[in-house]
Amino acid sequence: MNQQGRSPLNGEDECTHVQFLLSPEVRYTRRMLLCPVRGCHMALARGERQLLCPQGHSFDVARSGYINLLQPQDRRSKQPGDTKAAVLARRRLHDRGVSEPLLHATVEMMAASNSDIVLDAGCGDGFYLGTLARQIGFDAHGIDISISAIDAASRRYPGCEWIVANADRVVPYADASFSLVISITARMNAGEFRRVLRHDGRLLVAVPAPDDLIELRGAGRDRVARTVETFAPDFKLIDQRRVTTSADLDADAVHDVLHSIYRPLRSQPVNALRVTFALDLMLFQPRRDSGNSA
Ligand SMILES: [Zn+2]
Repeated sequence: MNQQGRSPLNGEDECTHVQFLLSPEVRYTRRMLLCPVRGCHMALARGERQLLCPQGHSFDVARSGYINLLQPQDRRSKQPGDTKAAVLARRRLHDRGVSEPLLHATVEMMAASNSDIVLDAGCGDGFYLGTLARQIGFDAHGIDISISAIDAASRRYPGCEWIVANADRVVPYADASFSLVISITARMNAGEFRRVLRHDGRLLVAVPAPDDLIELRGAGRDRVARTVETFAPDFKLIDQRRVTTSADLDADAVHDVLHSIYRPLRSQPVNALRVTFALDLMLFQPRRDSGNSA
């Protein structure tokens, strides 16, 4: 397969046309966006400032570079997902470096290379995917239902493809598009993750560990067993670890943490505080007899 001249952003036209000429076995070896219109789901071809499906449904590419594939029936409110205030608060925390140890653990566990094609489902402001794509050089695709989050992601990390969509319903990519799917403290859609993942791919899931933000909201539940159970029909757990870090935060940063988890701000002033951040990481591999036919 000729991959010369392909870049994550500029190869779209060529890829889409080439894909139709390839035999079925190799047709889906690259990620391919699908039309989100109910009952359509045909491949989208990329034009100058918009994407078009063969049935004539079109989607504009935003000025900052993202593509909004959210359909009216896919949202319950006018602005679904994270608010702009929450997105900005979370980004300030990432920029202070509080997430660095979590990022390192994620990198180690996913063991990605520059030949991976990665989907981050529920990518938020793009911190994990965008940072990893820059470090490792893989082909990166992020989906989130929040326009504010995706807009922030596409401004900060223009080298990745950013899509506004409701991955709870459908992940708008062809079967077996990805070699790696990641879900970092996001909502999980086991069936769709399996469908868009190659048979030899892997899935990394991170959920908040019981100690996460314990100073602000008390001890949480251990979500590991439940998560493994959720994925069990399609995936086998192959690695698991817990990563914990803490950071001395000033009052502004504590305020940002509260914003990012939608805790109503307390009436008394927020004080500086040492805050724990903790994730349970799980690495899965698809079961042989599950999922798509690719
Ligand atoms: Zn269509």
